[in-house]
Amino acid sequence: MMRIPLSALPFGGGSVGTRIRNLRRKKTPLWLTAIAAFLCLVLSACLLTDQEVQQETETGTGANDGFVHNYMSYGVCGTEDTVYFLPSYYSDQICYVDKATGTSGPLCGKPECKHGTTTCNAYVNQECGISIYNGRIYWLGRGNEFKAKLYSCALDGTDHRTDRELTAEVLPKSWNKIYSFVDSDTMFLVMVADGVNGFEPDGCLYILAIPLDPEQEVTVILNEYAMPKQYADSYIATAVYDGGLYLLTDRPADPKSPDYDPGTGKYVVQIRRWDMETHELETLYEDLDSDYFYHTTLAVDETGIYFNQTHVGQYSDSGIYRLALGASEPELLFSMGPYVFGNIGISGGIAAGSHIFGPNEGEQEGLYVIIRDLEGNVLIDNTYDMTDWGIPEPEDGFQYSVITYAGTDGEKAYFLGAFESSGGASAIVEVDLKTGACKVDEVVRKK
Ligand SMILES: [Zn+2]
Repeated sequence: MMRIPLSALPFGGGSVGTRIRNLRRKKTPLWLTAIAAFLCLVLSACLLTDQEVQQETETGTGANDGFVHNYMSYGVCGTEDTVYFLPSYYSDQICYVDKATGTSGPLCGKPECKHGTTTCNAYVNQECGISIYNGRIYWLGRGNEFKAKLYSCALDGTDHRTDRELTAEVLPKSWNKIYSFVDSDTMFLVMVADGVNGFEPDGCLYILAIPLDPEQEVTVILNEYAMPKQYADSYIATAVYDGGLYLLTDRPADPKSPDYDPGTGKYVVQIRRWDMETHELETLYEDLDSDYFYHTTLAVDETGIYFNQTHVGQYSDSGIYRLALGASEPELLFSMGPYVFGNIGISGGIAAGSHIFGPNEGEQEGLYVIIRDLEGNVLIDNTYDMTDWGIPEPEDGFQYSVITYAGTDGEKAYFLGAFESSGGASAIVEVDLKTGACKVDEVVRKK
């Protein structure tokens, strides 16, 4: 049996990123590690609550704003001057980092506000991330039951508005992956979710187009059976380009088989394009018997459709692929190296990934970061000391960390970190693409 580092396992849920669960001061026997790894693989998705899934976040804004719009980093977005983020441990509060001054904190500005309440300007009751569009921050929040409201505020946190109330139930009872982003005057709500009214059967790949204009109707772009129950074993990635929403999905080819075992079988992999004008869904590529899954990021430009995928059962194989426009088969462009698959993002012309390793079996603990341009040139290939990323030394021997690539402005790459040690903290960390130097911009402690 291939030995898989714990931190490389697909922990399902919105939990991708890289994780460690370790007993620091105890040596764990190899056989126990192997069993734990297997159990984690099978069970961890079930153990995540919706709240935990929701806390691992992000969102999007425009198609080519440099930020990743996927379920792993749906709490981060930005403008030229500012990075906005939802701390993983405080996801109802927008925080910001001013890139020029380094100033950061809750996006409030109210004098003497103590923050943390619903009257604070930074408060958002978001369900699936924040996103910037046309100079405003947008989010979808729960209104009545499973109905939703679309909200927005100005970039300084003022001028909160309710832009539209949804009359249909659009939010699922539970989900495994969810995110939203705004583009072309429309909020796209993307999820792998369990049922709510209209979400039948359970376990669906689901995408809605919600126009910002309340007069325009909501469109169901995709509602597709994916798996027998809400499970980590289906993925969805999206990108907007030239009047189309591109969708990359994978789902188990035969989830009803008694032999079905997550992460081992064949997958249906499809790349489709939804035309924003005609609302037609066109299949650009499909493999009904694929050995690849874990598709979490997608980017499209005039040279083709770029995405990640991982070979089933070979977590050391994390590749970036391209389907040239009009081509019938994708090509492997380059590998991101072993075990990076859990956190890969493509945005702003680069592919970035990270992997926390150690300290199993005497390994030195560290954070591996790989960043390449889409031609494959290596920009960053570094291993960092964890403390340089704002990850505190664990006080109780327990450490749980997630590092998620969130986006780039061409000079820096931004990562969102969530660290359980020392009571829990979230941080935005920037990496200089020229020098590789990293800097912790803002740390937010758990409430
Ligand atoms: Zn406040």
